[in-house]
Parts: sequence; C-alpha cells; structure tokens
Amino acid sequence: MNVIFLGPPGAGKGTQAVRVCERLGIPQISTGDILRAAMKAETPVGLEAKSYVEKGLLVPDSVVINIVRDRLQQDDCKNGYILDGFPRTVAQAEALSAFADIQAVVDIEVADDVLVNRLSGRRVCPACGATYHTANLAGREDCEKCGAKLIRRKDDEPETVLSRLTVYHDQTAPLIAYYTEKGILHAIDGTQPMEECTKAVLAVLDADK
Ligand code: ADP
Ligand code: ADP
Ligand code: ZN
Repeated sequence: MNVIFLGPPGAGKGTQAVRVCERLGIPQISTGDILRAAMKAETPVGLEAKSYVEKGLLVPDSVVINIVRDRLQQDDCKNGYILDGFPRTVAQAEALSAFADIQAVVDIEVADDVLVNRLSGRRVCPACGATYHTANLAGREDCEKCGAKLIRRKDDEPETVLSRLTVYHDQTAPLIAYYTEKGILHAIDGTQPMEECTKAVLAVLDADK
C-alpha cells in the first residue's frame, strides 16, 4: 500500500509512521529526515536546503520532488511505503501523481496550541533518529534505544515553530481539500494517546485485521 501521512508539524506523523511501517513491513520515507541527513553530510542538496529548514520555510518544490522520485525507485518501495512529510504543497502533490499511485492519505489532526507544546518538548536522537517528548522522559537525557545524548532540533525553537505553523496553514493545509476531492483522505484524531492513534491509522488503512 502506498500511503501519505499528512498533518501539521508535531502532529505525530513520524511517530505513527515508525509504528505503522513496522507493522506493515514497508519503508517510512521522511523528506525531513532525508534533508537533515543531507545537511549533516553537507551535500549540494543539504547546503541548499539548510537556509530554508532553519527558518522554518519549505525547501523548493523541485528539490524535494527529485528526492522523492529517486527514493521511490529503490527496491524496498516495491511493496508499498509511507510518505511522511511529503507532499507539502499542491505542486508537490501534482508532481507525485505523475510517478506514484497513492491509495490512501491519513490526515493526523491536532490543534495549534497542542502542536506548540509537542514541538517545544520534542527531543530526538542524533544517532538513531528516535523521537521522544520531555513529558515522557522523566528528566532522562539519553536515547533509550542506543544511549546517545538527545537533542532539540534547531527548528523546534519557539520562533521557528510559529513560522512552521503559518507555513503549514498557508501551503500544506490546502492538500486536505485536494485529497478529499480525490476520495482518499482519512482524518484521524491525533490528540489521542500514541497507541490509540496507531489503532486508528491501521483501521482506516484496513490493516487492523
Ligand atoms: P515535522 O515532522 O516537524 O513536520 P519535518 O521533519 O517533516 O518536520 O520537516 C522539517 C523541515 O524540512 C520542514 O520545516 C521543511 O523546511 C523541510 N521539508 C521537509 N519536507 C518537505 C517538503 N515536502 N517540502 C518542502 N520542505 C520540506
Ligand atoms: P511530526 O513528525 O508530525 O512532526 P512527531 O512524531 O515528531 O511529529 O511528534 C511530535 C512530538 O509529539 C514528539 O515529541 C512526540 O514524542 C510527541 N507525540 C507524538 N504523538 C503523540 C501523541 N499521540 N500524544 C502525545 N505526544 C505525542
Ligand atoms: Zn538513539
């Protein structure tokens, strides 16, 4: 199954993608993760992306479209995939339709006030990519999976969070109407506990049997 996870920053797209991908045995394709890896490695794409990502702006469509087009050609995508954080503009969605057949879009709904708290408390593992929230860490600063010291993403600083939410409402939210019209949008309540969200996602994908 080829699936898109849509939703504002902090909605839980990454958290749910990891859980659902494990369950379905398909890869999670996160454009945010790919861009951060490129920035770290200082590749030409990474150097171009850096100024946008750090300001909380979207990286130009052509850059991310090329990334996803290449990634979907790899062997592990043959039996399906979850796109986490792509598309984020109508232009990206239209480009995607030329090289991918998407069966379902899961829209994870969370209100802005909750998102600000989710993003400011998010901690990530720079070594293995695991994601946590300070509310569940009880003061712990190391990754449960690999022991590395957790960090706060630079774009999760308060100033950048607000611009990312504005960018979401202006540029990404129109995709809700776009995919509703195509008849493949499924909204789920992203304020439920993580495990409940996973159940809701599997149910709309008809993968909970
Ligand atoms: P979050 O999970 O908090 O929504 P991501 O990790 O998906 O954030 O994305 C981080 C940043 O990477 C975005 O703010 C944006 O700058 C860039 N980015 C990721 N995906 C895209 C995309 N599809 N189009 C443009 N920019 C993107
Ligand atoms: P996204 O990929 O949509 O930006 P993440 O999956 O990174 O979102 O989650 C953002 C933050 O919210 C993380 O700190 C994560 O641990 C936390 N989080 C995710 N899902 C939930 C949930 N259902 N309830 C409470 N906190 C959550
Ligand atoms: Zn780790």
